[in-house]
Amino acid sequence: MNKTSWTFPNVVHDPALTIGEKASMRMREATPVDDWAEKYFVLSKAYVNPGKYIPHQWQREVLDSVRHYNQVYLQAPVQTGKSLLGEIMAMYAIDTWSLNGMFVYANEKTVKKVFKFRIREAITSIPQLSQYWSGREDDLTISNLELRNCLWGVASAENKNDLASFPAGFVYGSEVSKYRPKDFNPIDMMRGRQQAYLERGIYKRVLESSPLDEGDIFHQEIYKSGTIIVTPHVRCPHCHDWQELTDGQIIDMTGTKDSGALRRKKEASVQYECIECHQEITEKQRVRILNKVVWAAQEIDQVGFKQKAELISPTGTVERDPKDYEAICFNWNRLITPAYKFYECLARFFESRRSTRKLRVYTNEDMARFWKTKKGKQSGDDLKDKATGYYQHGDQASVPEGVIVTTVGIDTQDTGFYYVVRGYGPNMETWLIKEDFIECSKKREIYKNKDEVLRLFERELLPYVTDTIRFGFIDRGGHRADIVDYLVEKIPWLHAYIGATRINPKEDFVKESTTAAHFMGQTQLLSEEVADYMEGEKWHLPIDVGDEYLKQVIAQYYIDEEDKDGQPVRRWVCEHEDHMRDCENYNFAAAFFLHLDKSLYSADGVGRVKKYFALRKDKAESQKVKAAAEPKKERVKETAPAQTRSPMGSRRRWSK
Ligand SMILES: [Zn+2]
Repeated sequence: MNKTSWTFPNVVHDPALTIGEKASMRMREATPVDDWAEKYFVLSKAYVNPGKYIPHQWQREVLDSVRHYNQVYLQAPVQTGKSLLGEIMAMYAIDTWSLNGMFVYANEKTVKKVFKFRIREAITSIPQLSQYWSGREDDLTISNLELRNCLWGVASAENKNDLASFPAGFVYGSEVSKYRPKDFNPIDMMRGRQQAYLERGIYKRVLESSPLDEGDIFHQEIYKSGTIIVTPHVRCPHCHDWQELTDGQIIDMTGTKDSGALRRKKEASVQYECIECHQEITEKQRVRILNKVVWAAQEIDQVGFKQKAELISPTGTVERDPKDYEAICFNWNRLITPAYKFYECLARFFESRRSTRKLRVYTNEDMARFWKTKKGKQSGDDLKDKATGYYQHGDQASVPEGVIVTTVGIDTQDTGFYYVVRGYGPNMETWLIKEDFIECSKKREIYKNKDEVLRLFERELLPYVTDTIRFGFIDRGGHRADIVDYLVEKIPWLHAYIGATRINPKEDFVKESTTAAHFMGQTQLLSEEVADYMEGEKWHLPIDVGDEYLKQVIAQYYIDEEDKDGQPVRRWVCEHEDHMRDCENYNFAAAFFLHLDKSLYSADGVGRVKKYFALRKDKAESQKVKAAAEPKKERVKETAPAQTRSPMGSRRRWSK
């Protein structure tokens, strides 16, 4: 056997190495990230439970994954610690790898808040980190976190310059689904910062978010080949089967589907059923089995992404080699938190299920699932099947029995106005009462006289909407703002509608502008809602519904396309001739503003709505009499029913 020995010359550095340089050259013991966090990390006042941090069992593997995978994604509900986990990984990278890095947040406001209360706080007050800080305030600013061993920055995903600042081996992106790609893609920019490190093979990218829509920027990042998506599995106390906790296994024992009843009876109102042996897993048992969570992949087989299910051994081990994957995505839902009880989960589901918008928020923020938008155009033939039982034109024309409230939606064009009058009854059953087009070209001399247009509207609409109608929206978007403003001033139940440019499922479909006399609506969300109603059993059309209506009402929908990398992306399409669909969107804006989707579901609510409209009718009658006596008096705009009025509406009257 050969034995060889060397004598190393003694290396002397001149000038002497700094702490940071020494730290970066030292071979570190490979401390698992969860142990590091437990030993050193302290939660600042900005967290729910300030003080020493002890990771939950389920968080340990998530934290330590950043040592084994270059890319880690956390797809999780809001307020379940995903940003804390991401931040700890970044702090670990500072201490252990001395990597340069970048924190990225969705917007400037968050950048400022997070920097002050979380990042700055951690670096100045946690000894394991503050050893790298010079103590100079100048070295600790948003754009420049100059530490002894590395350099970090905090950036907003909306700011191109922020994102282009300096090379970063570690990139942490927070609430990634909210990034709005404009003329640049924030994630591509973040990747660009890592180029030099990619070549050297040491880079880390941690992205966390609650999910939004399939096809959004976060979804595209996760659903790529090379990613493994893992979910938390617990073991049934009865049959010992490993499984995920999911809302689908919670059974309503009250049989009421009423969130109020569930909240009153609490634990007694629901049962959680094991997916395998169907025996009940109680809240108490849940707390216990959550102490041993195993992260494992479930089978996924969809266009553009496939993975096989991983086997979990009885002792809870999974065989997985990180080298086989470029990225790991941890996806958990709120049921991982024992404080989120089974009955609370089901109550929230019941509260959201009647509205696509609310269901979307529940799906994203509680269940941490991407929202699957319906795609493809609906069939006009299927819709035509709903045209039975009554007529809109001629002698036989009638308002169907059951109609309690009527709304109007009007779409403004240069050539005239498309409109739909729609009635609603108990349980949100809904009938189209009249659809048509009011010929009224802005080029014709006669219609330059605003009163002439008003007379036209009254002639066309009043015969159908005399007593019942109390609410309507007219599009004030691009066309003919002056005439629209005049009409809404003169017709007490009609209001101007402007489509918002950005959609936000967490906000109301429509709200009154605080600065001007119009309403802002989320047309795309309304249109999705209309699609659901159109497909349902409660949507009715008259026998003589027009072909043009049938053609136009289906002219808004989602389609799947491929982006430049061949990844599927979902796009919202509005065909050129979609005016009747917009009329329906405005109708539902009115229905939701009046909260018909709540009140029409109970006898109490129906009674309230009926009473309200009877009251309005009497008032309108007496006003008519008064107006005849003193013709100059201005009419007062009507308000939503008091019990159901939105907070905004209750503070303001709409008088002019
Ligand atoms: Zn079981």
